Amino acid sequence: MGMFIRSPSLAARRPLGNWLRTGASAPITDNVGMGGRPDPKHQLLEQISAFLIDNDLEVNPANLATAFHVASGGKPRLAFQVAQLSAHGGITQAWLDAHPDHESEVHEAEMSRRLMSELDEVLTQFSRQATAARSAASDYSSDLQRHACELKEMDGGTDNLVGRLVSLTQRMAERTRAIEGELSSREKEARKLRRQMGQMKRDAEQDHLTGLPNRRAFEVQFTAACEKARENDEALSLAFCDIDHFKRVNDTHGHDAGDRVLKMVAKVLSRISNERCHVARHGGEEFVMLFRGKDVLQSKDALDQARETLGALRLINRDTNEPIGHITFSAGVADVFADEDPRKALRSADEALYKAKHSGRNQVLVAGADEQENPAEKL
Ligand code: GH3
Ligand code: MG
Ligand code: MG
Repeated sequence: MGMFIRSPSLAARRPLGNWLRTGASAPITDNVGMGGRPDPKHQLLEQISAFLIDNDLEVNPANLATAFHVASGGKPRLAFQVAQLSAHGGITQAWLDAHPDHESEVHEAEMSRRLMSELDEVLTQFSRQATAARSAASDYSSDLQRHACELKEMDGGTDNLVGRLVSLTQRMAERTRAIEGELSSREKEARKLRRQMGQMKRDAEQDHLTGLPNRRAFEVQFTAACEKARENDEALSLAFCDIDHFKRVNDTHGHDAGDRVLKMVAKVLSRISNERCHVARHGGEEFVMLFRGKDVLQSKDALDQARETLGALRLINRDTNEPIGHITFSAGVADVFADEDPRKALRSADEALYKAKHSGRNQVLVAGADEQENPAEKL
Protein backbone atom coordinates (compact mmCIF):
# COMPACT_ATOMS: atom_id res chain seq x y z
CA MET A 1 0.00 0.00 0.00
CA GLY A 2 1.36 3.50 0.65
CA MET A 3 0.49 4.32 -2.94
CA PHE A 4 -2.38 6.57 -1.95
CA ILE A 5 -1.39 9.50 0.11
CA ARG A 6 -4.47 10.54 1.98
CA SER A 7 -5.01 13.59 4.06
CA PRO A 8 -6.20 12.75 7.57
CA SER A 9 -9.17 15.08 7.17
CA LEU A 10 -10.36 13.20 4.12
CA ALA A 11 -9.91 9.90 5.89
CA ALA A 12 -11.89 11.22 8.83
CA ARG A 13 -14.70 12.28 6.55
CA ARG A 14 -14.83 8.86 4.95
CA PRO A 15 -15.29 6.25 7.64
CA LEU A 16 -16.11 3.54 5.15
CA GLY A 17 -12.71 4.07 3.57
CA ASN A 18 -11.12 3.51 6.96
CA TRP A 19 -13.33 0.61 7.64
CA LEU A 20 -12.46 -1.18 4.42
CA ARG A 21 -8.77 -0.51 4.90
CA THR A 22 -6.57 -3.14 6.52
CA GLY A 23 -6.31 -2.96 10.26
CA ALA A 24 -8.44 0.18 10.56
CA SER A 25 -10.86 0.57 13.44
CA ALA A 26 -9.14 -2.41 15.07
CA PRO A 27 -10.64 -1.99 18.56
CA ILE A 28 -14.16 -1.99 17.18
CA THR A 29 -13.62 -4.88 14.84
CA ASP A 30 -11.96 -6.91 17.58
CA ASN A 31 -14.71 -6.13 20.06
CA VAL A 32 -17.42 -7.26 17.74
CA GLY A 33 -15.63 -10.22 16.28
CA MET A 34 -14.88 -8.76 12.85
CA GLY A 35 -11.09 -8.77 13.12
CA GLY A 36 -8.60 -10.72 10.99
CA ARG A 37 -6.31 -9.48 8.25
CA PRO A 38 -7.66 -9.75 4.75
CA ASP A 39 -5.91 -11.89 2.15
CA PRO A 40 -3.97 -10.19 -0.70
CA LYS A 41 -7.01 -10.20 -2.99
CA HIS A 42 -9.09 -8.45 -0.33
CA GLN A 43 -6.27 -6.04 0.34
CA LEU A 44 -6.20 -5.13 -3.34
CA LEU A 45 -9.97 -4.61 -3.34
CA GLU A 46 -9.70 -2.49 -0.20
CA GLN A 47 -7.03 -0.36 -1.85
CA ILE A 48 -9.23 0.10 -4.87
CA SER A 49 -12.19 1.13 -2.69
CA ALA A 50 -9.94 3.47 -0.70
CA PHE A 51 -8.64 5.09 -3.89
CA LEU A 52 -12.17 5.81 -5.12
CA ILE A 53 -13.52 6.93 -1.76
CA ASP A 54 -10.57 9.07 -0.66
CA ASN A 55 -10.38 10.90 -3.95
CA ASP A 56 -14.14 11.27 -4.04
CA LEU A 57 -14.25 9.62 -7.46
CA GLU A 58 -17.31 8.29 -9.15
CA VAL A 59 -17.49 4.51 -9.28
CA ASN A 60 -17.29 3.84 -13.02
CA PRO A 61 -15.38 1.38 -15.20
CA ALA A 62 -12.68 3.87 -16.23
CA ASN A 63 -11.99 4.92 -12.63
CA LEU A 64 -12.08 1.29 -11.49
CA ALA A 65 -9.51 0.38 -14.13
CA THR A 66 -7.27 3.27 -13.03
CA ALA A 67 -7.65 2.30 -9.38
CA PHE A 68 -6.81 -1.29 -10.25
CA HIS A 69 -3.67 -0.34 -12.21
CA VAL A 70 -2.48 1.97 -9.47
CA ALA A 71 -3.13 -0.53 -6.69
CA SER A 72 -1.73 -3.53 -8.52
CA GLY A 73 1.32 -1.67 -9.81
CA GLY A 74 0.37 -2.76 -13.34
CA LYS A 75 1.12 0.69 -14.75
CA PRO A 76 4.05 2.16 -12.86
CA ARG A 77 4.01 5.46 -14.77
CA LEU A 78 0.36 6.03 -13.95
CA ALA A 79 0.98 5.01 -10.33
CA PHE A 80 3.84 7.54 -10.17
CA GLN A 81 1.68 10.37 -11.56
CA VAL A 82 -1.09 9.48 -9.14
CA ALA A 83 1.30 9.40 -6.17
CA GLN A 84 2.62 12.84 -7.15
CA LEU A 85 -0.86 14.28 -7.51
CA SER A 86 -1.92 12.75 -4.19
CA ALA A 87 0.93 14.57 -2.51
CA HIS A 88 -0.50 17.82 -3.89
CA GLY A 89 -4.09 17.51 -2.84
CA GLY A 90 -5.41 14.39 -4.57
CA ILE A 91 -6.70 13.11 -7.86
CA THR A 92 -9.66 14.79 -9.44
CA GLN A 93 -12.16 13.51 -11.97
CA ALA A 94 -11.10 16.33 -14.29
CA TRP A 95 -7.49 15.12 -14.22
CA LEU A 96 -8.56 11.53 -14.93
CA ASP A 97 -10.84 12.65 -17.77
CA ALA A 98 -7.99 14.63 -19.28
CA HIS A 99 -5.68 11.60 -19.08
CA PRO A 100 -7.75 8.77 -20.47
CA ASP A 101 -6.19 5.37 -20.65
CA HIS A 102 -7.04 3.86 -24.04
CA GLU A 103 -5.02 0.69 -23.73
CA SER A 104 -6.69 -2.63 -24.51
CA GLU A 105 -10.30 -1.52 -24.14
CA VAL A 106 -11.92 -4.92 -24.34
CA HIS A 107 -9.49 -6.40 -21.84
CA GLU A 108 -10.17 -3.55 -19.45
CA ALA A 109 -13.90 -3.81 -19.94
CA GLU A 110 -13.73 -7.45 -18.91
CA MET A 111 -11.37 -6.65 -16.06
CA SER A 112 -13.54 -3.88 -14.65
CA ARG A 113 -16.59 -6.14 -14.95
CA ARG A 114 -14.80 -8.71 -12.81
CA LEU A 115 -13.59 -6.05 -10.41
CA MET A 116 -17.10 -4.72 -10.03
CA SER A 117 -18.49 -8.08 -9.13
CA GLU A 118 -15.67 -8.70 -6.65
CA LEU A 119 -16.13 -5.29 -5.05
CA ASP A 120 -19.81 -6.01 -4.90
CA GLU A 121 -19.03 -9.22 -3.05
CA VAL A 122 -16.77 -7.40 -0.58
CA LEU A 123 -19.50 -4.86 0.08
CA THR A 124 -22.13 -7.55 0.50
CA GLN A 125 -19.91 -9.28 3.02
CA PHE A 126 -19.22 -5.98 4.74
CA SER A 127 -22.91 -5.14 4.97
CA ARG A 128 -23.69 -8.55 6.39
CA GLN A 129 -20.90 -8.29 8.97
CA ALA A 130 -21.84 -4.75 9.92
CA THR A 131 -25.46 -5.75 10.43
CA ALA A 132 -24.47 -8.75 12.55
CA ALA A 133 -22.02 -6.62 14.54
CA ARG A 134 -24.57 -3.88 15.08
CA SER A 135 -27.17 -6.27 16.36
CA ALA A 136 -24.57 -7.94 18.61
CA ALA A 137 -23.57 -4.51 19.92
CA SER A 138 -27.21 -3.64 20.44
CA ASP A 139 -27.90 -6.84 22.45
CA TYR A 140 -24.72 -6.30 24.43
CA SER A 141 -25.70 -2.73 25.16
CA SER A 142 -29.15 -3.67 26.51
CA ASP A 143 -27.65 -6.51 28.59
CA LEU A 144 -25.14 -4.13 30.10
CA GLN A 145 -27.80 -1.57 30.79
CA ARG A 146 -29.93 -4.18 32.55
CA HIS A 147 -26.98 -5.39 34.63
CA ALA A 148 -26.17 -1.82 35.60
CA CYS A 149 -29.75 -1.34 36.84
CA GLU A 150 -29.70 -4.61 38.78
CA LEU A 151 -26.37 -3.70 40.39
CA LYS A 152 -27.71 -0.28 41.31
CA GLU A 153 -30.73 -1.84 43.00
CA MET A 154 -28.50 -4.25 44.95
CA ASP A 155 -26.13 -1.49 45.96
CA GLY A 156 -28.66 1.14 46.87
CA GLY A 157 -26.55 3.80 45.11
CA THR A 158 -23.77 4.06 47.71
CA ASP A 159 -20.18 4.71 46.68
CA ASN A 160 -18.62 1.33 47.37
CA LEU A 161 -17.11 -1.37 45.14
CA VAL A 162 -20.48 -2.26 43.63
CA GLY A 163 -21.10 1.45 42.92
CA ARG A 164 -17.85 1.71 40.98
CA LEU A 165 -18.80 -1.45 39.12
CA VAL A 166 -22.12 0.18 38.25
CA SER A 167 -20.49 3.25 36.77
CA LEU A 168 -17.97 1.14 34.87
CA THR A 169 -20.78 -0.96 33.45
CA GLN A 170 -22.69 2.17 32.48
CA ARG A 171 -19.64 3.57 30.69
CA MET A 172 -19.24 0.30 28.83
CA ALA A 173 -22.89 0.40 27.85
CA GLU A 174 -22.47 3.96 26.53
CA ARG A 175 -19.40 2.98 24.55
CA THR A 176 -21.23 0.00 23.06
CA ARG A 177 -24.12 2.27 22.07
CA ALA A 178 -21.65 4.61 20.35
CA ILE A 179 -20.18 1.66 18.46
CA GLU A 180 -23.66 0.62 17.50
CA GLY A 181 -24.33 4.09 16.04
CA GLU A 182 -21.04 4.10 14.19
CA LEU A 183 -21.73 0.69 12.69
CA SER A 184 -25.14 1.78 11.63
CA SER A 185 -23.76 4.74 9.66
CA ARG A 186 -21.11 2.54 8.06
CA GLU A 187 -23.78 0.10 7.11
CA LYS A 188 -25.65 2.94 5.40
CA GLU A 189 -22.51 3.97 3.51
CA ALA A 190 -21.96 0.41 2.32
CA ARG A 191 -25.57 0.23 1.16
CA LYS A 192 -25.14 3.49 -0.74
CA LEU A 193 -21.95 2.28 -2.37
CA ARG A 194 -23.65 -0.96 -3.39
CA ARG A 195 -26.56 0.96 -4.90
CA GLN A 196 -24.08 3.11 -6.85
CA MET A 197 -22.28 0.00 -7.98
CA GLY A 198 -25.53 -1.63 -9.14
CA GLN A 199 -26.39 1.49 -11.13
CA MET A 200 -22.90 1.58 -12.55
CA LYS A 201 -23.14 -2.06 -13.62
CA ARG A 202 -26.37 -1.28 -15.45
CA ASP A 203 -24.91 1.90 -16.99
CA ALA A 204 -21.77 0.08 -18.05
CA GLU A 205 -23.72 -2.50 -20.01
CA GLN A 206 -26.48 -0.44 -21.52
CA ASP A 207 -26.57 1.97 -24.42
CA HIS A 208 -28.21 5.14 -23.11
CA LEU A 209 -29.86 6.19 -26.35
CA THR A 210 -31.55 2.97 -27.42
CA GLY A 211 -31.70 1.11 -24.11
CA LEU A 212 -30.11 -1.89 -25.82
CA PRO A 213 -27.13 -3.75 -24.38
CA ASN A 214 -23.93 -2.10 -25.56
CA ARG A 215 -20.81 -3.56 -27.12
CA ARG A 216 -19.34 -4.48 -23.74
CA ALA A 217 -22.45 -6.46 -22.82
CA PHE A 218 -22.39 -8.05 -26.25
CA GLU A 219 -18.81 -9.26 -25.74
CA VAL A 220 -19.89 -11.02 -22.56
CA GLN A 221 -23.01 -12.44 -24.22
CA PHE A 222 -20.97 -13.61 -27.19
CA THR A 223 -18.52 -15.58 -25.05
CA ALA A 224 -21.35 -17.15 -23.05
CA ALA A 225 -23.40 -17.97 -26.16
CA CYS A 226 -20.38 -19.65 -27.82
CA GLU A 227 -19.84 -21.85 -24.77
CA LYS A 228 -23.50 -22.77 -24.51
CA ALA A 229 -23.91 -23.51 -28.23
CA ARG A 230 -20.80 -25.72 -28.17
CA GLU A 231 -22.08 -27.51 -25.09
CA ASN A 232 -25.50 -28.14 -26.65
CA ASP A 233 -24.09 -28.73 -30.11
CA GLU A 234 -26.36 -26.14 -31.69
CA ALA A 235 -25.97 -23.53 -34.40
CA LEU A 236 -24.94 -19.97 -33.60
CA SER A 237 -24.94 -17.11 -36.10
CA LEU A 238 -23.81 -13.57 -35.79
CA ALA A 239 -24.82 -10.51 -37.80
CA PHE A 240 -23.74 -6.92 -38.15
CA CYS A 241 -26.45 -4.50 -39.28
CA ASP A 242 -25.62 -0.98 -40.39
CA ILE A 243 -28.12 1.74 -41.28
CA ASP A 244 -27.81 2.85 -44.90
CA HIS A 245 -26.80 6.44 -45.61
CA PHE A 246 -27.46 7.41 -42.04
CA LYS A 247 -25.18 10.41 -42.27
CA ARG A 248 -27.67 11.95 -44.71
CA VAL A 249 -30.39 11.81 -42.04
CA ASN A 250 -28.18 13.74 -39.64
CA ASP A 251 -27.09 16.18 -42.31
CA THR A 252 -30.62 16.85 -43.57
CA HIS A 253 -32.72 16.59 -40.41
CA GLY A 254 -30.26 17.18 -37.58
CA HIS A 255 -28.73 15.02 -34.91
CA ASP A 256 -31.88 14.75 -32.78
CA ALA A 257 -33.87 13.32 -35.66
CA GLY A 258 -30.90 11.00 -36.31
CA ASP A 259 -31.14 9.84 -32.70
CA ARG A 260 -34.84 9.10 -33.13
CA VAL A 261 -34.09 7.06 -36.26
CA LEU A 262 -31.51 5.09 -34.29
CA LYS A 263 -34.10 4.35 -31.61
CA MET A 264 -36.61 3.29 -34.24
CA VAL A 265 -34.15 0.84 -35.85
CA ALA A 266 -33.29 -0.50 -32.38
CA LYS A 267 -37.01 -1.09 -31.78
CA VAL A 268 -37.50 -2.94 -35.05
CA LEU A 269 -34.49 -5.17 -34.38
CA SER A 270 -35.63 -5.75 -30.80
CA ARG A 271 -38.93 -7.10 -32.13
CA ILE A 272 -37.15 -10.08 -33.66
CA SER A 273 -35.06 -10.62 -30.55
CA ASN A 274 -36.00 -12.91 -27.68
CA GLU A 275 -34.15 -15.13 -25.21
CA ARG A 276 -32.47 -16.90 -28.17
CA CYS A 277 -31.81 -13.86 -30.31
CA HIS A 278 -29.83 -10.99 -28.82
CA VAL A 279 -29.42 -7.53 -30.25
CA ALA A 280 -26.91 -4.94 -29.07
CA ARG A 281 -25.76 -1.54 -30.25
CA HIS A 282 -22.21 -2.13 -31.36
CA GLY A 283 -21.48 1.56 -31.83
CA GLY A 284 -22.61 4.49 -33.99
CA GLU A 285 -25.33 3.30 -36.37
CA GLU A 286 -24.24 -0.31 -36.22
CA PHE A 287 -25.99 -3.15 -34.40
CA VAL A 288 -24.81 -6.67 -33.71
CA MET A 289 -27.07 -9.68 -33.36
CA LEU A 290 -26.60 -13.22 -32.09
CA PHE A 291 -28.96 -15.98 -33.25
CA ARG A 292 -28.84 -19.00 -30.97
CA GLY A 293 -30.02 -22.24 -32.60
CA LYS A 294 -30.33 -20.60 -36.05
CA ASP A 295 -28.03 -21.28 -38.98
CA VAL A 296 -26.97 -18.44 -41.28
CA LEU A 297 -29.90 -18.85 -43.68
CA GLN A 298 -32.50 -18.88 -40.89
CA SER A 299 -30.82 -15.81 -39.42
CA LYS A 300 -30.81 -14.10 -42.80
CA ASP A 301 -34.58 -14.78 -43.05
CA ALA A 302 -35.22 -13.20 -39.67
CA LEU A 303 -33.12 -10.17 -40.63
CA ASP A 304 -34.80 -9.83 -44.01
CA GLN A 305 -38.15 -9.68 -42.24
CA ALA A 306 -36.90 -6.90 -39.97
CA ARG A 307 -35.39 -5.11 -42.97
CA GLU A 308 -38.71 -5.24 -44.81
CA THR A 309 -40.68 -4.06 -41.75
CA LEU A 310 -38.34 -1.10 -41.36
CA GLY A 311 -38.21 -0.31 -45.07
CA ALA A 312 -42.02 -0.21 -45.25
CA LEU A 313 -42.24 2.62 -42.70
CA ARG A 314 -42.61 6.15 -44.02
CA LEU A 315 -40.93 8.42 -41.50
CA ILE A 316 -41.63 12.08 -40.88
CA ASN A 317 -39.50 14.43 -38.83
CA ARG A 318 -41.85 15.44 -36.00
CA ASP A 319 -39.97 18.71 -35.42
CA THR A 320 -40.35 20.00 -38.97
CA ASN A 321 -42.98 17.73 -40.53
CA GLU A 322 -40.47 17.10 -43.31
CA PRO A 323 -40.45 13.57 -44.71
CA ILE A 324 -37.40 11.54 -43.74
CA GLY A 325 -38.51 8.87 -46.16
CA HIS A 326 -37.59 5.23 -45.91
CA ILE A 327 -34.79 3.95 -43.72
CA THR A 328 -33.04 0.73 -44.67
CA PHE A 329 -30.12 -1.25 -43.35
CA SER A 330 -27.57 -3.66 -44.73
CA ALA A 331 -26.32 -6.70 -42.88
CA GLY A 332 -23.67 -9.39 -42.98
CA VAL A 333 -24.26 -12.79 -41.35
CA ALA A 334 -21.63 -15.37 -40.39
CA ASP A 335 -21.59 -18.83 -38.87
CA VAL A 336 -19.79 -18.51 -35.52
CA PHE A 337 -18.40 -22.03 -35.81
CA ALA A 338 -17.16 -21.74 -39.40
CA ASP A 339 -13.70 -21.31 -37.93
CA GLU A 340 -12.14 -22.80 -34.82
CA ASP A 341 -11.78 -19.29 -33.43
CA PRO A 342 -15.34 -17.89 -32.97
CA ARG A 343 -14.00 -14.33 -33.04
CA LYS A 344 -13.19 -14.77 -36.72
CA ALA A 345 -16.97 -14.68 -37.29
CA LEU A 346 -16.91 -10.99 -36.28
CA ARG A 347 -14.59 -10.27 -39.18
CA SER A 348 -16.50 -12.50 -41.61
CA ALA A 349 -19.83 -10.83 -40.76
CA ASP A 350 -18.21 -7.43 -41.16
CA GLU A 351 -16.81 -8.39 -44.56
CA ALA A 352 -20.24 -9.65 -45.67
CA LEU A 353 -21.73 -6.33 -44.50
CA TYR A 354 -19.13 -4.46 -46.52
CA LYS A 355 -20.11 -6.48 -49.59
CA ALA A 356 -23.79 -5.76 -48.94
CA LYS A 357 -23.00 -2.05 -48.86
CA HIS A 358 -20.98 -2.17 -52.03
CA SER A 359 -23.54 -4.15 -53.96
CA GLY A 360 -26.44 -1.77 -53.51
CA ARG A 361 -27.29 -1.68 -49.74
CA ASN A 362 -30.69 -2.65 -48.25
CA GLN A 363 -29.79 -6.34 -48.27
CA VAL A 364 -28.49 -9.14 -46.03
CA LEU A 365 -25.50 -11.16 -47.25
CA VAL A 366 -24.15 -14.38 -45.78
CA ALA A 367 -20.38 -14.66 -45.29
CA GLY A 368 -18.80 -17.18 -47.66
CA ALA A 369 -22.02 -17.61 -49.68
CA ASP A 370 -20.29 -16.53 -52.93
CA GLU A 371 -17.76 -19.30 -52.65
CA GLN A 372 -20.45 -21.89 -51.92
CA GLU A 373 -22.65 -20.84 -54.83
CA ASN A 374 -19.81 -20.44 -57.32
CA PRO A 375 -17.00 -22.73 -56.23
CA ALA A 376 -13.70 -21.77 -57.82
CA GLU A 377 -12.26 -24.21 -60.33
CA LYS A 378 -8.54 -24.82 -60.06
CA LEU A 379 -6.97 -25.10 -63.53
P1 GH3 B 1 -23.36 3.70 -45.14
O1 GH3 B 1 -24.62 3.38 -45.86
O2 GH3 B 1 -22.16 3.45 -45.98
O3 GH3 B 1 -23.28 3.00 -43.84
O4 GH3 B 1 -23.36 5.26 -44.90
P2 GH3 B 1 -23.62 6.03 -43.54
O5 GH3 B 1 -23.88 7.45 -43.85
O6 GH3 B 1 -24.66 5.32 -42.75
O7 GH3 B 1 -22.26 5.80 -42.78
P3 GH3 B 1 -21.18 6.80 -42.27
O8 GH3 B 1 -20.19 5.94 -41.54
O9 GH3 B 1 -20.65 7.66 -43.37
O10 GH3 B 1 -21.91 7.74 -41.25
C1 GH3 B 1 -22.41 7.29 -40.04
C2 GH3 B 1 -22.92 8.47 -39.27
O11 GH3 B 1 -23.56 8.06 -38.06
C3 GH3 B 1 -21.84 9.44 -38.85
C4 GH3 B 1 -22.13 9.72 -37.40
O12 GH3 B 1 -22.14 11.09 -37.14
C5 GH3 B 1 -23.52 9.16 -37.18
N1 GH3 B 1 -23.73 8.73 -35.82
C6 GH3 B 1 -23.02 7.84 -35.09
N2 GH3 B 1 -23.53 7.71 -33.85
C7 GH3 B 1 -24.62 8.53 -33.79
C8 GH3 B 1 -25.57 8.85 -32.77
O13 GH3 B 1 -25.56 8.34 -31.65
N3 GH3 B 1 -26.55 9.75 -33.07
C9 GH3 B 1 -26.62 10.34 -34.31
N4 GH3 B 1 -27.61 11.18 -34.54
N5 GH3 B 1 -25.71 10.10 -35.27
C10 GH3 B 1 -24.74 9.19 -35.03
MG1 MG C 1 -24.28 3.33 -42.10
MG1 MG D 1 -21.32 2.41 -39.99
